[in-house]
Amino acid sequence: MLSLGVKSPLYLGSPAAPSSALRDSLHICFAPYIAKARVIRVHCRKSHPQRIQSTQVTMAAAAESPRVVIVGAGVIGTSIAYYLSLRGVAATVIERASVACAASGKAGGFLAVDWCDGSPVGDLARLSYQLHRDLPSDLEDDIGYRVVCTIGGNIGKPGKQRRPEGSNYDPAWLDGPVSRLQVMGTEATTAQVHPGKLTQGFMKAAQRRGASLCIGTVTGLDISHNDQACVEGVMVDGERVAADVVVLAMGPWTSHAAKWLPVPQVFGQLGNSMILKSHQPLSAHALYLHGASGEVDIFCRPDGTAYVCGENDIINTPEDPLDVQPDPAAIKRLKRNAGLVSSALAEAEVEAEQACLRPTSYSGMPIIGALPGASGAFIATGHSCWGILNAPATGKAMAELILDGQATCVNLSPFDPARLLPLQHRKPKVRG
Ligand SMILES: Cc1cc2nc3c(=O)[nH]c(=O)nc-3n(C[C@H](O)[C@H](O)[C@H](O)COP(=O)(O)OP(=O)(O)OC[C@H]3O[C@@H](n4cnc5c(N)ncnc54)[C@H](O)[C@@H]3O)c2cc1C
Repeated sequence: MLSLGVKSPLYLGSPAAPSSALRDSLHICFAPYIAKARVIRVHCRKSHPQRIQSTQVTMAAAAESPRVVIVGAGVIGTSIAYYLSLRGVAATVIERASVACAASGKAGGFLAVDWCDGSPVGDLARLSYQLHRDLPSDLEDDIGYRVVCTIGGNIGKPGKQRRPEGSNYDPAWLDGPVSRLQVMGTEATTAQVHPGKLTQGFMKAAQRRGASLCIGTVTGLDISHNDQACVEGVMVDGERVAADVVVLAMGPWTSHAAKWLPVPQVFGQLGNSMILKSHQPLSAHALYLHGASGEVDIFCRPDGTAYVCGENDIINTPEDPLDVQPDPAAIKRLKRNAGLVSSALAEAEVEAEQACLRPTSYSGMPIIGALPGASGAFIATGHSCWGILNAPATGKAMAELILDGQATCVNLSPFDPARLLPLQHRKPKVRG
C-alpha cells in the first residue's frame, strides 16, 4: 500500500489511514504547483504557525518548480531532497521500506578529506568533506559528527614499537597484540558521522521545507513518447504519481530500473558488520587493522559503541533490502578479531549483527547525471564504499543539475551515466 510518511508536512491523516485518503493526499501533493503551494500553507497554519513565513518563501519558488520524485530514501536520495529543499523545491521521496533501511543505515560513517585524491572522485570527496562540517548545525539534529584520529596496524604481531613516532595515537583500550601502528589520518583530515542519523536528518530537514516521504515500491516509469521520450510519472504499487523529474537513487536495486530505461549495471557488494557496546570509554579513533586472522575496521562512536566491519563478499541482490543478512562465519571472525585487539571489545555487548550492500558500478565510479533515453530522468548511485562521505556533494550537484541544467559545485562528467552504458551486460561473480 502507498502511504505518506508520518512527518510529511503534506500528510493529512494517520499513518494507517485508508488508501482513499492517501490517494487524496497524493492528488493534492501532485496537483498543479499553485494549488500545491496553497495546501502547504493551509496545513502549516494549522500545525506549524511559527513556520508560515519561511514556508511562504518556499511557496514562491515552488510555484515555478518542477515536480521531482526521488526513488530511494538512502543517504543519496535524501541528500538530493535536502539540497533541492534549500533551493525551494519540495521533492517527494518514495521508499519501499523505511528511511536508511539499507547500507545508509548500516555503514561505518567514516569520512576522509583526501583518501580519494588522485581519482575522479577526489573533488567530490573534498567538497563533501567540507559540507559535512556544516551539516550538524544545518540539519538541527544530532548526527554523530566528530573529527577522529585514524590509525592502521597489524594484528597478532606484538611489536616493540606500537606508538607512531611523534604522536599519541595509541589508544589505551587497544591493549591486544597490534604492531606497526601508523597514522592514516589526523583530526584535520578524518571524521565520522552516524550514517542512519545523517540520512534521517537529511529527510527531516527536507520535510521541514515541504518535501514529503512516501512509503511504497516504485515498479515502473510513465514515459510519454510524443516528440521525444519524456518522464511524466512513476508507478508506485500500481498507482501513478505524476512527475516532471525522476531521480533513481535505489542503491544496488537501481539495476531494476533497467526494465524501464537503459541504466548502467549496479551490483551489491555485501559488507558484514557489528555494533559493540563497550563498558569502558572508547576514544575518538578509527582503526584499520589487518593480519593473518583477517581484516577488521573499528570506528568508535560518540555514543560509546564501536562499529566493527571488514568482511566483504559479492552476492545476488535480494529483492527486499530487509532480506540482506549477515554471514554468521564472517561475523564470528569479526568478533574474534575485535576481541583479540582489545579486551574492552572482547567484553563488550553485541548490539547488532548486520549486513548491507555497497552499490557498485563496474568502473568503481559513482553514476551521477541525466539518463539518456528520456528527458527528466536522472540517476545517482554506485558510490560503493564512499556513499556516506560523498552524499552531500552528490545532493548539492544533483540539485544544480536538475534546476540549472548543469552542476557548478563539482564536475560531474566523470560520472556521466552515458559513459557506462556499454558495460551494462557484464555480470559479476556471485556467491550462492
Ligand atoms: C559494511 C559497509 C560499511 C560502509 N562504510 C562506509 C563508510 O564508513 N563511509 C562511507 O562513506 N561509506 C560507507 N559505506 C558505503 C555506503 O553505505 C553506501 O555507499 C551508501 O549508503 C549508499 O547509499 P544509497 O542511498 O545509494 O543506497 P541505499 O542505502 O542502498 O538506499 C537505497 C534505497 O532505495 C530503496 N529502494 C530500492 N528500490 C526501490 C524501489 N523500487 N522503490 C522504492 N524504494 C526503493 C531501498 O529500500 C533503499 O532504502 C559502507 C557500506 C558498507 C556495506
